Amino acid sequence: MIKPRQHGAARVWVLPTGPLQENTLLVAGQAGEGFLVDPGDDAEQVLALVRDSGVKVRGILLTHAHFDHIGAVQPVREALAVPVYLHPADLPIYQQGEASAARWGLPFTQPEAPDVEIAQGQTFTAGDLRLMARELPGHAPGHVVFVAQSGEEPGFVMAGDTLFQGSIGRTDLPGGNHPQLIAGIRRELLSLPDETAIYPGHGPATTVGAERRTNLFLR
Ligand SMILES: [Zn+2]
Ligand SMILES: [Zn+2]
Repeated sequence: MIKPRQHGAARVWVLPTGPLQENTLLVAGQAGEGFLVDPGDDAEQVLALVRDSGVKVRGILLTHAHFDHIGAVQPVREALAVPVYLHPADLPIYQQGEASAARWGLPFTQPEAPDVEIAQGQTFTAGDLRLMARELPGHAPGHVVFVAQSGEEPGFVMAGDTLFQGSIGRTDLPGGNHPQLIAGIRRELLSLPDETAIYPGHGPATTVGAERRTNLFLR
C-alpha cells in the first residue's frame, strides 16, 4: 500500500494512474475525512487506495478537465456516491474528454457532467481539513489549484498541471496562454512560503522554494 506524506495533521497519498502517469491524490485531515483530487485512470486502484487508507471521501475535486485527469471520475463517483467539482471554464474540455483521449488512441470512460461549479476562493472542508481553490489559468482556462488551509507549517498545494519539478504546464493546447500561466504561478504559488510542498499532476512532489531557486521557466 502507498504510504501517505504527512503535513501537520494532514496526509497526502500520491497514486500515478494511466498511460500518462497522472497523479491521483487522496488528501485527508486528522479526522480521516478528505477529498480525491484528479482521479485520472485506474479506478480500481483508486478505490483500493481509498479503502485501504480508511479515508471518508467527501468529494472529487478537479484541478482541470484534461482527459488524463478525469478518466476515473465516473466509476469512482458512483462507487463513493460523492459530488464532482469543476471550474465552469473547463466544462468544454471536460465534455471533449472522449474525443481528446481518442486522438491519443486511448480508451476512456466519458463522465457525466460535474455536480458543482468551483469558484475563486471557495473552500472545501472535510473534518479538520480545509482546502481553498485558487484560479490559475494558462494551461487550461478553468484550471485551479487547491491550497491546504490547515494553518500547519509547512503547508501544501495540489497544483495540477501548472508547476512541475523543474518545469511548467504546456500552453499549446486549446485555451492555453503562456504569460497567463507564468503570472498565475507567481501570484498563487511563488507567493507561498518556501517550505510549502507542491503536488503536481505529473512527476514527483517539489517545494515552492526549490522551484523558485532552480526552475528555468520562472527566470
Ligand atoms: Zn492538463
Ligand atoms: Zn495532466
